[in-house]
Amino acid sequence: MNQGWLPGQVALVTGGASGIGLAIVARYLDEGAAGIVVLDRDLSGLADLSAAWPGKIIGTAGDVRDYATHQTAVDTCLREFGQLDILVGNAGVFDFRRPLRSYTPESLIATMDELFDINLRGYLFAALASTAALTASKGCMIFTASVASFNAGGGGVLYTMAKHAVLGMVRQLALEFAPAVRVNGVGPGGTITRLRGTAALGHADRAINAQADLLAQRIEAAVPLQIAQQPEDHTGLYVLLASRTNARAITGEVMMSDGGVGIRSV
Ligand code: NAD
Repeated sequence: MNQGWLPGQVALVTGGASGIGLAIVARYLDEGAAGIVVLDRDLSGLADLSAAWPGKIIGTAGDVRDYATHQTAVDTCLREFGQLDILVGNAGVFDFRRPLRSYTPESLIATMDELFDINLRGYLFAALASTAALTASKGCMIFTASVASFNAGGGGVLYTMAKHAVLGMVRQLALEFAPAVRVNGVGPGGTITRLRGTAALGHADRAINAQADLLAQRIEAAVPLQIAQQPEDHTGLYVLLASRTNARAITGEVMMSDGGVGIRSV
């Protein structure tokens, strides 16, 4: 029987209740993962996950801006599954491409604080809380970057700044945690999910897929491969980078899954 690429591995996935994170969770189980702890603030999403994969998935409800939540998630991995092999930092919010001139100084501060705290502090907290367990298992970290980690226009200035910072974080942590822990990223292009905005701008319930057909058309028109990417399209890279046998020599990389949009010059 094919055991998959992640036999017996235990993962912690932030933002795993929806979209790209949810697709990663399902794929990791298909690849033989023994258990997954999902940290998310979406309580009903977490309940759905535990019901769909009883005993395989345990939810930790909380906010990635809160360090104690990460500590609880790591402790749950160790207590319930005996180890932690893979951290996937993935929870994030969007700025709906808001240009700088549309902010007031006050709304800029509030939005910047919220978006950076979720998209960056959330990643760093996840890394910090899981370092000891991953060092013990000689595991790995994978962070969801973006086409906006390398290019302009994939977000507004705050989202683009934050995703560029993810690239720097991956490279720095890869150096700091070598040789015990590999650290990499995956950079999706525009993907059909319900990625939401910031409460600071009143966008906590605004989702990029509110008009899914329009979003799909826009992505298809923009990417050379002319596909509207689905969350499942990116999961292969998360499997590859987590694989002990297939990615033994890969660290400090952000691998793109963007339909080729990053190669356009005009
Ligand atoms: P999504 O909204 O479907 O999933 C994000 C998950 O993160 C949700 O379950 C949400 O509840 C959770 N979350 C958000 N803020 C949180 C917080 N403060 N605490 C705990 N959980 C929180 O969106 P998605 O598109 O799957 O986004 C996942 C990642 O992919 C994000 O980092 C996003 O920036 C990145 N990304 C998305 C796209 C895209 O076009 N959808 C493209 C490139 C990168």
